[in-house]
Amino acid sequence: MKRICAHWTAGNLTATESDKKHYHVIVDNIGVHDHTNSGGMLPPEANNNCKIGRYVAHCKLGNTGTIGIAIAGYRNHPEESVLPDEKTFDLFFETIADYCEQYDIEVTPQTVYTHAEYDRRLSDFHRDGKIDFNYIPYYDIIIIGISNCGDFIREKILEIIKSRSIRRRKEKKMGLFDKVREIVFKIKDEQIFDIVERVENEFKDLKGSEKKQKAVEFINELIDIPVINESTEEKIISYLFDKSIDLTVFALNKYVWKKS
Ligand SMILES: [Zn+2]
Repeated sequence: MKRICAHWTAGNLTATESDKKHYHVIVDNIGVHDHTNSGGMLPPEANNNCKIGRYVAHCKLGNTGTIGIAIAGYRNHPEESVLPDEKTFDLFFETIADYCEQYDIEVTPQTVYTHAEYDRRLSDFHRDGKIDFNYIPYYDIIIIGISNCGDFIREKILEIIKSRSIRRRKEKKMGLFDKVREIVFKIKDEQIFDIVERVENEFKDLKGSEKKQKAVEFINELIDIPVINESTEEKIISYLFDKSIDLTVFALNKYVWKKS
């Protein structure tokens, strides 16, 4: 799948069975509906080739390779609009971000756009352009106009993807300390004194890159040492933390980052 087209259903705040036939995914005031939890809906892949078999016709002249994701609502827009609330909009943006990540779709106006933006781009075809989205009431701001709404939706999706990647990096860092524990856990009892001595003596006077190099070599040696018991691990950890904390933690970090 190469693109995502964002829609509103022009219906009520809860998606009906009929609404669901027109999109791969619908976000409504109950949650997210797609082929995995809602019978009758088709997976995005149904639109890989719209000439064969059933597909979802969500965007005239733009269905092939495009995932259709809709938010439920906007019945009678603009006269008596039935508008989704902020929480539903948040879930809508999160859901589009999910699909961008899952299908590795970059967030650009050419790859993530609204139905209205797409129709406007095809204006040469002299067709009646759709208007989803030309109006987004989001918390205390209201976005008006097709371009502004498209830009706003992309901006929200990019924010979500960015904050997810920061969170993942943090989680990876947390995992690092578990790995350090694991490495230390592999050191044999009788080798503790040897290691302790080396940390204390060998690296003490080294400086800069030489020190780093030694530290990495030292850690390399630790990795190949087999099993110890839990009390040994505690001894080593407490010793390293007392004596040579900076160098050792640095080296462990460096090593594990290189490996992962
Ligand atoms: Zn639409």
